[in-house]
Amino acid sequence: MKNQLEKIRAEAAGLIAAAEGEQTLDALRVRFLGKKGELTAILKQMGGLSTEERPFVGALANEVRGELEQAVAARAGALAASAQARRLAAETIDVTLPGKKPVLGGRHPRGIVLDELKTIFLGMGFSVATGPEIEYDKYNFEMLNMPKSHPSRDTQDTFYVTENILLRTQTSGMQIRTMLSQKPPIRIICPGRVYRADAADATHSPIFNQIEGLAVDRGITFTDMKGTLDLFFKQLYGPETKTRFRPHHFAYTEPSAEMDMSCYKCGGKGCPMCKGEGWIEILGCGMVHPKVLENCGINPEIYSGFAFGAGLERITLMRYAIDDMRLLYDNDLRFLRQFNEGGMQP
Ligand SMILES: [Zn+2]
Repeated sequence: MKNQLEKIRAEAAGLIAAAEGEQTLDALRVRFLGKKGELTAILKQMGGLSTEERPFVGALANEVRGELEQAVAARAGALAASAQARRLAAETIDVTLPGKKPVLGGRHPRGIVLDELKTIFLGMGFSVATGPEIEYDKYNFEMLNMPKSHPSRDTQDTFYVTENILLRTQTSGMQIRTMLSQKPPIRIICPGRVYRADAADATHSPIFNQIEGLAVDRGITFTDMKGTLDLFFKQLYGPETKTRFRPHHFAYTEPSAEMDMSCYKCGGKGCPMCKGEGWIEILGCGMVHPKVLENCGINPEIYSGFAFGAGLERITLMRYAIDDMRLLYDNDLRFLRQFNEGGMQP
């Protein structure tokens, strides 16, 4: 029996020390130390030993068990350590490799131009008024001197939500809302999205942006309007820019005018940009109709005002000499990157 124990001790020690992998090691543990293992099998035969032999064999068996248990634990530790070493080696990060640069967003040309416009008007004492894009017919048309039967409504193909609610066709609703809630003096600009049932082409889109302006106070005259708008375009396109006003008709202004500015490209000589005219049509304007003031509870005998409205896309196209409005909506990064030096690099 003693020989059997020595044999197990030698054999097991060798196998355990050489075990590759946790599964092999566990199988060896079960084979030698398990309940049905070889060591247990020998111990079960101890009943057949004499009383003199039994303590010696018992002590030896315990010694062998202890040794094997230790060997298994040591081998398990060594295997775990080498597994971790392999994992660390495989997961090594080369911190000297170049990193991935995040793509930075950039500013849309229309937003850049809108900020320029805001800066110019804020400098002249105007503030910015914004409001709902889903508007009451009342604020979009009726109070602007365009009752339901008015022919001017035909020129603005409207998306109606209900009979009395629509997608605003102009930001004029904000002029009305401001006049209803605020006493003169009023000086506001109203930039924002507007909607008209137009098919998209190089100069039209069913969604576009307007910027309107309104000034109401005692003694405001047509000259104030001309001076304000002339200064606005000189600041935007340069001090040599000239402006001119042509008579026009709008329901909400009287008198009304359309304003042209001298072509920024040829300086008024005539070129493809201005179609040989030397002038570019830029906005509509006029003195606020007395009826509109009255509708908003402002006495037209005491107060007067001027208003104007321009397409923000149109100003943006001209600012950057872009020939197709759809480029402003396409989200083509090759186009948009041109307006953002340093930003939006892939
Ligand atoms: Zn020109």
